[in-house]
Amino acid sequence: MNLAHLLRRIAEQDPRRAAVLVGTTPVLDYGSWAARCARLGASLRAAGLVPGDRIALFMRNHKAYLELMWGAWWAGLVIVPINAKLHPKEAAWIIEHSGARWGFIAGGVGAELHGLEQLVDVDGADYAALFTDTSLAIEPRAKDDIAWLFYTSGTTGRPKGVMITHRNLMTMGLCYFADVDSIDAADCTVYAAPMSHGAGIYAVPHVMVGARHCVPASGGFDASELFELAPRLGPMSLFAAPTMVNRLVDHAQAQHLGGDGFKTIVYGGGPMYVADIQRAMRVMGPRFVQIYGQGESPMTITALSRGQLVDSAHPRHLERIASVGVAQTAVELRVVDTQNRLLPAGEVGEVVVRGDSVMAGYWRNPEATAATLRDGWLFTGDMGCLDTDGFLTLKDRSKDVIISGGSNIYPREVEEVLLLHPGVAEASVVGAHDQEWGEVVVAFIVPRPGSAVDTHALDALCLGHIARFKRPKCYEFVDALPKNNYGKVLKKALRERLKNPGEQLP
Ligand code: AMP
Repeated sequence: MNLAHLLRRIAEQDPRRAAVLVGTTPVLDYGSWAARCARLGASLRAAGLVPGDRIALFMRNHKAYLELMWGAWWAGLVIVPINAKLHPKEAAWIIEHSGARWGFIAGGVGAELHGLEQLVDVDGADYAALFTDTSLAIEPRAKDDIAWLFYTSGTTGRPKGVMITHRNLMTMGLCYFADVDSIDAADCTVYAAPMSHGAGIYAVPHVMVGARHCVPASGGFDASELFELAPRLGPMSLFAAPTMVNRLVDHAQAQHLGGDGFKTIVYGGGPMYVADIQRAMRVMGPRFVQIYGQGESPMTITALSRGQLVDSAHPRHLERIASVGVAQTAVELRVVDTQNRLLPAGEVGEVVVRGDSVMAGYWRNPEATAATLRDGWLFTGDMGCLDTDGFLTLKDRSKDVIISGGSNIYPREVEEVLLLHPGVAEASVVGAHDQEWGEVVVAFIVPRPGSAVDTHALDALCLGHIARFKRPKCYEFVDALPKNNYGKVLKKALRERLKNPGEQLP
């Protein structure tokens, strides 16, 4: 089924229902949103685009994102979302690789792109001219037709185009209700994290029930803006990467605010440390849910529910909040060894997943598809272990594991300990090449402003919590950690810095 039906269904029931806002200003109701998609679809098809063709979106969060997504689907087209922070050359590579025919841009990003039949600025007259009086009927789509061709950040080599189908997104949307949260028609989701990534596809469950969608006027994440919007738009929900959650909590603490107006903050996309989620719940209340997913099974591998996060009376509460929760309803989850043998609870191996949220494969890349999808299972590249209750604890990406003297060290467990020090704002642990040990542990530490952190204290902390061989052999104090657009620490850049000590961190 075409995802466009979700929008038409609400538009038919209740066309006047508020749908899209920019900040607190309403810009579209469900009736006009659907009507605009039918018109946009008609123009794109009249211009020669045929079902299955790709259109690229290279812009920050913008209200047009939503009508372009549903307008493209309406006409049977595929969205290629491109992270607005990519270099134009990187965007050009994605456009060429995906074979996108048209591109849509906003706010000056991407004006130099070429190789497209049409490049349309969504704030310009060419875009407005696409909304004529002709409407298109929804193009039938089979469940395995592609809806979203998402290029993974690719820490090595070129990014890969993840083929996400209508069925994948439908499954992701339904799992939101089963595993993440309820959504009421009166709720408002706010797009603070990039819509080119998970936050954008979370529009699907919110369209399913006809909730409101707010694009912040800033087009991105701004903690103070979100605290202003929440009481005015609430009940408000959002997806936030762990760094964004930490910034929200910093802001709340500094301004003596609670969580008024925030209904649910879904966090994921990278590790959230125990001390951070505990502080977040203390400051903002029981408003958090964690998800674990990856581009290849978007937003849909595991979830740690609000109830599990607040259940501090549970004997394994600490272990649970350090985990990423349990398999979401639509997926099967296993942990396997390098020979693909099932591992018992407690043993660390690669996390593999199977279910209707798992991608169809990588676009025009059969080798990578065959390496990642085996017998219907998605090999995530994440290392983790299950407990006997089905809770998954992630260790690290297999490539981030440090092997020192033949023993595996998972950076996350060292980072968790370092963060217990009150003077440590952020910590990231990587392996450095070493003649004797193969690799040794190096910790990059961002001290809290005004705090003095000495390495003896950090050493003592490690000795008190983890095996001796896991403690860092060396500490590097830095002002900030290098991060990507989604707030993920770029461990590759930290490893590079160790090879070239004089070099600035990006
Ligand atoms: P991406 O495909 O860019 O969304 O990155 C997905 C990767 O981010 C996963 O394979 C994990 O390594 C990591 N990740 C996602 N969610 C979580 C989470 N809740 N906790 C820890 N790591 C996560």
